[in-house]
Order: sequence, then C-alpha cells, then structure tokens
Amino acid sequence: MITSLLIREHEAKGRISLPKFWGRRFPRLMLVYGMCAAFLTTVILVVRRGWLKSSEGGTPMRPAVFLDRDGTVIAHVHYLSDPADVRLLPGAAEALAKLRAAGFACVLVTNQSGIGRGMYTEERLRQVHAEMTRQLAIFGVSLDGIYFCPEAPVGEGDDPTVIDHPDRKPGPGMLMRAARELGLDLSASWMIGDMISDVLAGINAGCLGSILVRTGKRLPEPGDYPGVVYQTADDLRAAAALILEETPGRKGMTTAG
Ligand SMILES: [Mg+2]
Repeated sequence: MITSLLIREHEAKGRISLPKFWGRRFPRLMLVYGMCAAFLTTVILVVRRGWLKSSEGGTPMRPAVFLDRDGTVIAHVHYLSDPADVRLLPGAAEALAKLRAAGFACVLVTNQSGIGRGMYTEERLRQVHAEMTRQLAIFGVSLDGIYFCPEAPVGEGDDPTVIDHPDRKPGPGMLMRAARELGLDLSASWMIGDMISDVLAGINAGCLGSILVRTGKRLPEPGDYPGVVYQTADDLRAAAALILEETPGRKGMTTAG
C-alpha cells in the first residue's frame, strides 16, 4: 500500500524513474526481509524439533510403581499426624531399592482426608513425610515423588469404590498427574496398596496391574469385588518380587538393595 502510494506520488510529479525508495533501499529491504524470514524459519524448525524430541524421539517414559503409604510403606496409624509415629514396615526400604534399581520410579500416592476434615495441617503432613524420607534415606533409598489428596470424602465415604474427587483414590488423578510431571508410562506401571481403593486407582489410571498387600487393612474376601482384577502379596517386599518376576527385562536388573 505504502509503496504503491509512493509510486503514484512520483508519477504525479512527472518523474519517469523509480523513486529512491526503490532504487536504493529496495535491495537492502529485501535483504532484511530475507534475513527475518530465515530467522523465523529457523525458530519454527527448532521449536518443532524440540517438540518432536520430547514426545517421540526423546527420553523414553519410565515405568513406575505407585505406592499407597499407610499399611504399605509405613505402619498404619489412624490419621497419622505425628512424625514420631512413623515406622517403616519391614522390608519396605529393601523393596523400594530393588524396584528403583530395576528402573521403576517409586511414587507415593496417599489419601489424606484428615486435612480436609480439619484434623491436621498440610505442614504437619510434610513433617510426617520428612520423617518417612529420613528413615528411607538410612537405607539409601528415596522416592521419586510424593502426591497426596487432602480432600475429605463426600458423605460417609464408606464405599471405597466410589470416586468422590478425581485425585482421591479410587480416582486416578494423583497417578495421572505424576505421570505427566515425571514422564511415567502408566501402561507399564503398577499400583501397590492395602485397600481396594488402591487397586481401583491403579485400574482407573490404566496401570498394568495392581497388588494388595497384607500389611494393612484386611484383604477383601474373594468375590467381594467381582470383575476387579488384582494380585495379593504378604508385604511390599513380596509385591516387588511379583512385579520384577512379571516384568520382562527387569528381573535381571535387580542387583542393588
Ligand atoms: Mg493404606
């Protein structure tokens, strides 16, 4: 538009030669335009290559073992809120070490309705988890992530199969968020817990399998939850052995711990 106006202006003045704008600056402008176009093309290519790298050709997603806390990793204490009450279950640290050595991310996913019920604060929960982390560190073990859901159940909350909140087990929210944030492959992951809500959280998240351990709540009777598929193990150590047994290519890697 501007250039056509300039040309018309020069034509109106009776000049037959192109204006100086074209004569001197046109090649320079074309060079600048060309450089801008090349720069933009480069930026687009870099962004696109980076996107492809992270989703297709980049670091492969890790399998994970999602772990319930109470009755699975540490002893069950009713509405645990005192760090002094944290007790690792026998063999739990050893199991985590073996799973991590085999390439599994170990991620704690715990319902903490005591916060939603006003029984303790998030700060108190952090202190409990700091103590659990300290005790694991004595064995040279660490967790890849800790996720908690502070929501209280709707109503009595006595049906462990009902999803009150996407993050509250049996909802899959915590597992799915961990998968996004930590780059986990849910389809190659496992869930271990002591309640049917743990099993269902794993199923709802699309995990490969779920295992109930006998170190916490009483196991369901056969037939209590028809159609819900899970395995059972005496404790976390036995559950880890089951996983390593059933995961091709992982068993041979369990040399640590
Ligand atoms: Mg539990």
